[in-house]
Amino acid sequence: MNKDIFSGIEYLGFDNASEINIFSDKKQETEKKVDSEKMKLHNLLVSSLYEKEVRCPVCGCIIKTKVVKSSSTRILSKDSDFFLRYGDINPYFYDIWLCNVCGYAATKTDFERIRDSDAEIIQKSISVKWHGKAYPEYFDVNIAIERYKLSLLNYCIINAKLSKKAMNCLKIAWMYRLINDNENEQLFLNEAVEGFTKAYSSENFPIYSMDKFTVLYLIGDLSRRCGKTDDASSYFSKVIVDPTCPQKIKELAKDQRELMKMDAKKAEEDSLDEENQLDEDTTDTTSTKKESIFSKLFKKSLT
Ligand SMILES: [Zn+2]
Repeated sequence: MNKDIFSGIEYLGFDNASEINIFSDKKQETEKKVDSEKMKLHNLLVSSLYEKEVRCPVCGCIIKTKVVKSSSTRILSKDSDFFLRYGDINPYFYDIWLCNVCGYAATKTDFERIRDSDAEIIQKSISVKWHGKAYPEYFDVNIAIERYKLSLLNYCIINAKLSKKAMNCLKIAWMYRLINDNENEQLFLNEAVEGFTKAYSSENFPIYSMDKFTVLYLIGDLSRRCGKTDDASSYFSKVIVDPTCPQKIKELAKDQRELMKMDAKKAEEDSLDEENQLDEDTTDTTSTKKESIFSKLFKKSLT
């Protein structure tokens, strides 16, 4: 590439133009790269998922569900409320099994465990309204949100245990966290806090493999995330001061309590900074006003 082609226009702001190759098909190269990445992900999904045939306990139809091979998942990190961040294959997307014939949906662990009386309720309240949907071969976060909401609706209709509804809400909140939708995340976190708080005082432990201290800690952390700092402090304290609480949970509670203190301190400092800035702005305005009055006076005296 001749570096002189775009010479002479650098002063207009185009000082990188000499790197441009006027006949390269960059767009096609980018498209090829995107296609190759899509193909890679497709191949990965093919090798990571398999189909399982299940009989729907509500309508009796045989449905095909997708199951993620546990060997294919890779955990990258874990959030303080136990949300697992996965690599390319996200098992949360396939957590809900749905019968497309009758509209019954539940988590894969609950799907086949439904009482006959509840199956009847689903038929009367869900199946009669269900339109069905053709889902794509592989699911994404938006499909996961939709399926989690269908499952939540089913749990509400059959008046499932509080902890089941709370966990379902928490998982929806996590999906919204994945796409940085803070407003909806908060909506479902608040529901999860309410559900787990009620479940704590009315259900037997373990709840989703969590002992009572872990549930207390979780309620504390969800309260912290919802901005209910007084509630969060109170739950964390209950965990920290109990001599029978496992050390691991105590450490988690201490970490989050410390984080809350740091957040509060930072918020206080930010507010002080804002106040100072406001004071400075006011002073600036006053001095500008004074200056402008003086400059006018000065101008007047000149004229
Ligand atoms: Zn069905």
